Amino acid sequence: MTQISSNVYYIVEKDTLGCNPLCYLIFGSENKVLLVDTGCGCGNLYFYLKNQAILKDKRFIVVNTHNHPEQIGGNWRFSTTGRFGLAHAVDDLCASRRHKYYTRLLESNWHWTIETYKITRWLKDGEMILLGPDTDSRNVVQVLWTPGHTPDSLVLWYPHDKRLFIGDLFYRFDDIMFTSAKNNR
Ligand SMILES: [Zn+2]
Repeated sequence: MTQISSNVYYIVEKDTLGCNPLCYLIFGSENKVLLVDTGCGCGNLYFYLKNQAILKDKRFIVVNTHNHPEQIGGNWRFSTTGRFGLAHAVDDLCASRRHKYYTRLLESNWHWTIETYKITRWLKDGEMILLGPDTDSRNVVQVLWTPGHTPDSLVLWYPHDKRLFIGDLFYRFDDIMFTSAKNNR
């Protein structure tokens, strides 16, 4: 876990698939933390987070930037189907509401198996995710639908840090990833 501002951290997953996906943590003013994406799921990200001293007693809101296996592979550790449901100290697993069919689709041609998970909160364009009272700017994160890379892509705008969390819209393989733009007319 690496700190990049007073209350934002990132994690690079040392996965066995060579993707090295990024996850981010945004700490609110109280006990809530927003986790952006869950990586490939090679290790147990939930267990890792729960064992960090600064995350002791924190509650998590998890947001997927889009439904690709490098971003959702660890989802089931936080929210699974059936009687186990949301993991302890997890309030919601969120995804964009724009294209629920795409988001629910578990592609069979990915390189590895994605364990089943359950989205518990579908986010609207412009919606605010609050990590505490909105009078404190650390607690306010805005959802912006940005289909282009996938039909269900979103970015998170965090005014407190003047920071955008953009998922794969910018990625090492291309300047800007609008590979699914043709699906968005
Ligand atoms: Zn992607």
